[in-house]
Amino acid sequence: MPERPSTTARDRVAGRLARAMLIKPHRLSLATPIVTFSFDDFPASAWRLGGPILARHGARGTFYLSGELLNRADPTGAFATEADVHGLLEAGHELGCHTFSHPDLLRQPAAAIEAELDRNGRLIAALFGGYRPSSFAYPYGRASLRAKQLISERFVTLRGVRTGLNQGPVDLAMLRANELCAKTTPVERARALLEANAKAGGWLIFFTHDIADEPSEHGCRPADLAAVVEAAAGSGARLLTMAEAAEALGLGAEASARPMLDPEDRALLQRAAGLAATGMAALSIAASLAVFD
Ligand SMILES: [Zn+2]
Repeated sequence: MPERPSTTARDRVAGRLARAMLIKPHRLSLATPIVTFSFDDFPASAWRLGGPILARHGARGTFYLSGELLNRADPTGAFATEADVHGLLEAGHELGCHTFSHPDLLRQPAAAIEAELDRNGRLIAALFGGYRPSSFAYPYGRASLRAKQLISERFVTLRGVRTGLNQGPVDLAMLRANELCAKTTPVERARALLEANAKAGGWLIFFTHDIADEPSEHGCRPADLAAVVEAAAGSGARLLTMAEAAEALGLGAEASARPMLDPEDRALLQRAAGLAATGMAALSIAASLAVFD
């Protein structure tokens, strides 16, 4: 798995600002809750072991591909091969975009971000019959405001790693997601999230990496994934891929929605910046931090 970059104080402020600005605001309220299982990077085991576990409950997943990792291996194991991707697409799963080389999008200039998206898009289209992903996940869940704005023009949904449910006012340009791994979201915590999601009529997104009896730090054991998928199916939620969920929400025309500040972050930003909590204020903070290149 790509190693998480270090975080400076400037990164923290820029990341917080990017999260606070809702680039694609949407009010989410569902009669039937939704649960999505997604896999980042993605190791071969995510598909070879994760796919059958989802299939037992008639569910499909979203697999976010960084093209550079395709057919490769690292000390945590092998990443997916082209044959794996063909197999999952034939079975109706979704392929999402995770950039080409998995850079830290807090630190990339605009041209480099565009090049990353172009390169991954070209590779996916060339190898997989013109397939065009509509879903994106930020590497390490990190992005500058500029990165978020640029990338959100190309995808229907964008997923981060901020934990919690998606309910009420959400940002389709940085949806919340919960890592399924023993350390951050053990099975009991996942069950609690499923219960809360069922009550709230929300969209609960899980993500993980490798699936193994002895997984990496960011992976999940097969038995744990099976237990959570079973609990999700039993929670009354619809188990959908990111693209299926977007369709169920009637998304597509959201890209033109006006950016707004996350109500949760408004007070915090006001205190931090001592400025009025308007979009312009946030943008001026961004400019002063040189978030824009
Ligand atoms: Zn990743």
